[in-house]
Amino acid sequence: MKILLVNPEVPSTFWSLKNALKFVSKKALLPPLGLLTVAALLPESFEKKLIDMNTSKLRDRHIKWADYVFISAMVIQKNSAKMVVEKCRTLNVKVVAGGPLFTSFPELVPDADYLVLNEAEITLPTFLKDLSNDCLKPVYKTTFKADMHSSPIPLWDLVDMKQYGLMGLQYSRGCPFNCDFCDITSLLGHKVRTKTTTQITDELESLYSHNWRGDVFFVDDNFIGKRQRLKNELLPAIIDWMDKKNHPFAFNTQASIDMADDEELMMLMTKAGFDCVFVGIESPNEESLVECNKTQNIGRDIVAAIKKIQQFGMQVQAGFIVGFDNDKPNVFNKLISLIQDGGVVTAMVGLLNAPRGTKLYRRLMSENRLSQFPTGDNMDCTMNFIPKMDINELLDGYQNVLNTIYSQKHYCKRIKTFLENYTFSNKTRLKIRYCGIKAFFRSMWQIGLIEKGKIHYWGLMLWSLKNPRRLPLAVRFSIYGFHFRKMLKTINPQMKELAAASNE
Ligand code: SF4
Repeated sequence: MKILLVNPEVPSTFWSLKNALKFVSKKALLPPLGLLTVAALLPESFEKKLIDMNTSKLRDRHIKWADYVFISAMVIQKNSAKMVVEKCRTLNVKVVAGGPLFTSFPELVPDADYLVLNEAEITLPTFLKDLSNDCLKPVYKTTFKADMHSSPIPLWDLVDMKQYGLMGLQYSRGCPFNCDFCDITSLLGHKVRTKTTTQITDELESLYSHNWRGDVFFVDDNFIGKRQRLKNELLPAIIDWMDKKNHPFAFNTQASIDMADDEELMMLMTKAGFDCVFVGIESPNEESLVECNKTQNIGRDIVAAIKKIQQFGMQVQAGFIVGFDNDKPNVFNKLISLIQDGGVVTAMVGLLNAPRGTKLYRRLMSENRLSQFPTGDNMDCTMNFIPKMDINELLDGYQNVLNTIYSQKHYCKRIKTFLENYTFSNKTRLKIRYCGIKAFFRSMWQIGLIEKGKIHYWGLMLWSLKNPRRLPLAVRFSIYGFHFRKMLKTINPQMKELAAASNE
């Protein structure tokens, strides 16, 4: 049996970092962790190949080679996924589809032959059994949640690691919180399920033995969902492993802001090699936090929490949302102040959307306010419902937030605010790598000479030289900033079009 696994193309988005990856000669940010795990769940006797369309071209000969094409996608990949499914049909090769796009919106790509939905650890074995008995059904789904202990080490042999900016690893699924716009809990549940500590150290060992060195992203939606296990078992084991291997990795992950209340947790995370965490802050407006049930953020001094995490040695990247029913026109300036004061260098600000399956989706449906499918892109200026704030006011305010926080002036100022507060602790980051030096020279050319606003770049570089430990991060952020400004150039005209359309 020959299986071709296909990861469809991700368009250029905030998180694709496509314009930044060129500085370090990488083609994509992350390999397709889900597909690599699916590959590991397939029988050893099956021949497997993987085409990640973000790093290489999918050709007819790849499809013709296969008995089945396995495709997994997120909503953002829907156009490319559709194209792959159509191509397979033309070439008469059966498609087996799974992942969040096909689980939440199967009607968006209706022509896949077999849907293997929800978590593959449960549904794939049933599919494989039916495959061997020649009695396949069109849909395999379940309401049960997988035991993470049955999740295998991803089949890293199928990708060329050199093409990627970082590697991925998953420790847990599920989140104890209940934010009303979030579909993580409808897909993966509230009960946090984890892999064993041995599974994780085996996965680290596997990445290491495949010669990966550098950034590793724990893709968990809320890494700190099971704190006691983290503090008592996993983090001490990672600390040991990293010491023995001489700190080959720098970790980043996603967590809720209440991690700032737990100093022991932050200390252990930093010691283990975590130096960056993405936090959903969402809004500076208390009423909006109450509206979306972001309980862990309510009544909290958000800037103080961000600064505390930074002082423990972790950069805080954060997500923000505008378009809540309770947002007032002053929300935009409050948001800019929060981002600037907190030194949140990488701030993703999006318009609120209601994914299917969420509490928000059900509320908006009952209020007859849903308008279209969400696109899965947090920053493409689309909303899938009618907001309460006047749409022109909302789009103007949103545009102003983006143009301000990603202007060279505000962005470089924010980098300084962050670096002044940050405690450097990651031993991995001390090892200057060749690609970092290459990226520095490229940034001098592209941002320091060609791009407008170069004075801010040079000001930042000179300032960083006073404490050379700051320089690698200042360069990295400058390159990210270049990507974000390029993104803005595509977002601004989109917003003008939307505003004009809404006026007609
Ligand atoms: S904390 Fe994050 S993952 Fe958990 S429900 Fe809220 S948005 Fe979703």
